Amino acid sequence: MNGQVCVCGKVAEYTDNLRFNRYKIDGWRCKNCGEEFYNPEKAEKILILNKLKKMKYRVKLTRVRSNLILRIPKQVSDAINLKKGGYLEFTLNNDDEIILRPATSN
Ligand SMILES: [Zn+2]
Repeated sequence: MNGQVCVCGKVAEYTDNLRFNRYKIDGWRCKNCGEEFYNPEKAEKILILNKLKKMKYRVKLTRVRSNLILRIPKQVSDAINLKKGGYLEFTLNNDDEIILRPATSN
């Protein structure tokens, strides 16, 4: 990645070691003034995730043979990179809440 001209006139250097809203992100940091420029594509994704975290979804269950099928809204699956054929980890907590997490491995 090439450097980016900073507001101070110096060249900000590429780094994969920036933080944006608690997320790790890459971008450019100026060693002269400390200004940081985030990778715009990843910053956009983080903003979408923050928006989705405030949402509450009501989803309809359908049935395939004996299994109930949960439909995950496209904006959520896109935001957290869920794909058809991928795996989720499923647990029930003591309040009968269902907790779904992207599985770390198959
Ligand atoms: Zn600067």
